[in-house]
Amino acid sequence: SDQETTFQFEAEVSRLMDIIVHSLYSNRDVFLRELISNAADALDKIRMLQLTNADARKVDETQEDLKIKITVDPERKVLEIADTGLGMTKEELVANLGAVAKSGTAAFLEQMQIGADSKNLIGQFGVGFYSAFLVADTVSVVSQSYKDSTPHVWVSGAHGSYTVAPTDQTVFGSEEPEAKLERGTRIMLSLKDDAMHYLDVEMIKSLVKKYSQFVSFPIYLYVSEKVTDSEKTQELEQDKIASGILDEGDDDEEEIIVKEEQLADDGITIVHKWVKLNEQRPIWTRNPSELSKEDYSEFYQALSGRFDEPLHYAHFSAEGEVNFKALLFIPSTNPYKQIKEGEVLEGFKLYLRRVLIKDTFQGTMFPTWLRFIVGLVDSDDLPINVSREMLQQSKLLELIRRKLVRKAMDMFRELMVEDQEARARAIEDGLDAPEEPTRYMLFYKQYSKLLKLGVLEDEGNRPRLAKLLRFRTSRTNPEQPEDVISLAEYIDRVKNEQEYIYFHAGETLEHVSSSPFVEKLLELGYEVLYLTDPMDESVLQYLGDFEGMKFMAVSKDNFKFAPADQKEQKRLIKSAKAAYAPLKDFIMNHMSEIVSKVKLSARLSTSPAVVTAVEYGYSPHFEMLTRAQMQ
Ligand code: ADP
Ligand code: MG
Repeated sequence: SDQETTFQFEAEVSRLMDIIVHSLYSNRDVFLRELISNAADALDKIRMLQLTNADARKVDETQEDLKIKITVDPERKVLEIADTGLGMTKEELVANLGAVAKSGTAAFLEQMQIGADSKNLIGQFGVGFYSAFLVADTVSVVSQSYKDSTPHVWVSGAHGSYTVAPTDQTVFGSEEPEAKLERGTRIMLSLKDDAMHYLDVEMIKSLVKKYSQFVSFPIYLYVSEKVTDSEKTQELEQDKIASGILDEGDDDEEEIIVKEEQLADDGITIVHKWVKLNEQRPIWTRNPSELSKEDYSEFYQALSGRFDEPLHYAHFSAEGEVNFKALLFIPSTNPYKQIKEGEVLEGFKLYLRRVLIKDTFQGTMFPTWLRFIVGLVDSDDLPINVSREMLQQSKLLELIRRKLVRKAMDMFRELMVEDQEARARAIEDGLDAPEEPTRYMLFYKQYSKLLKLGVLEDEGNRPRLAKLLRFRTSRTNPEQPEDVISLAEYIDRVKNEQEYIYFHAGETLEHVSSSPFVEKLLELGYEVLYLTDPMDESVLQYLGDFEGMKFMAVSKDNFKFAPADQKEQKRLIKSAKAAYAPLKDFIMNHMSEIVSKVKLSARLSTSPAVVTAVEYGYSPHFEMLTRAQMQ
């Protein structure tokens, strides 16, 4: 048409498409999930508009109008996915389907640059709309925005450009009841030669069951079925019993008959119908006892757009001063490793009475250090016309917030208890630690930095967080990375009558464990925490003590052993004082510009001398770190 405009894809999209088109991607199936999830997003958005913007055009329909329809056309080799969502204007088609919209995609490209393997990455990130090109040579999108009077069509063959034009095509055919809405989006995929199996209705059914089971709008598939006359009589009988066109099949399949075609003579009828593929009762409204671990995994993946398994989850409801249901997940890989700083994940959603209100809700519900939690909260109490300010001020929200944080901490504690049990069993078997990392250790590997951030920032939860910390020490097996202890264990296995938890910080385990500062302690049988994470020293400083036992840097000037050893040390020093006085003076005279004090000490065993930090100063290691940060 004259009004057709050709656009070049943004450079990033072109690169992405190159990767997609040329990748020997083993799990192309995900394209369907991505397109269905976009359709569901568009439906969520129109529903939000219905709630918040009553006079918007074409948004005042009933719930029944919100749906997703899938059709396969084996003759044209086309697979179509249509929705009655909010649709896109011409400008939105260009902005949304011509540029990289989502951070996940940008992160994906970044990883590709580092040289990671595209096969695994596409799986990890999901590449959104562009995944259509995993299976299609040409993709056409007919869309009409709820704001717009005409539909537009976007077409691309993935060769660096696409076109957008007004179109005579409509999103829904005139015979379809959804046509009256004059709104929505239809994605048409001209399948690649090696992707023809996606024209098989059984294939589509199984993919929807697998990936899109928990989409909260009905997904219908157009099915044409040959039925013999005798089968038909039987079905009619059943239909009479069910009374109506809706037929609840044994596997929850709901059907809407569109038309029946009688074939000549041979007693066969072709029945055309829409078969509903998903059950939309939201998972969080169900009883946990009727749900399997797999159900939760699938829901987690659908909710977060991630492809990993959750490490742990909590499904609970609160009643009383505030009523809500919530579902929390711990992603098995830290989502913030793939996301730019300052960005808030999609993946924690707020629902009011089962209707999605806000999809990036982490920022409101969780302190910074807990923003990796994926999940949702569905409240019965919050007012439906929730403005931003109201959400922030609401007392109810504050209550919910507190309960969610508490529940998240409970999840961590459950993993921790499991870990302690596994450790006890390992020790019984004569091992230092479980041979396989426990779920807690997997969790700790991903999130220890955030837990430590929590110690610094979240005063209220500091004591609880302290229990979650794990350390290598002078007694853990350096060959066994799983061999770590908690502060509680440190206190439990203290041998000397010591008043302090001793620690030494440095760059590597080797550095720290071979330091002159620890040699005497080890000789006397003390356990020393070996801190090699740059955050550790600040963390201990913020904690101050653990259950009353203060932390003590072994490199500090005011360092003390347990009273008995301290006494022995004093005695040694006293007896040697006179003999060493000249040496002390000599050093002081020659080094007065670098040292402030020279002390005779019995805290070393084989090394002749060490440089220590003053009591209220930072340790040398910490000072080095701070200096490095300031540069
Ligand atoms: P994401 O869904 O993470 O935003 P996608 O690549 O999947 O990224 O989609 C890009 C954008 O295209 C979406 O954010 C949305 O604005 C738009 N879009 C895609 N599919 C539809 C649809 N069916 N209806 C309306 N908008 C859509
Ligand atoms: Mg998407």
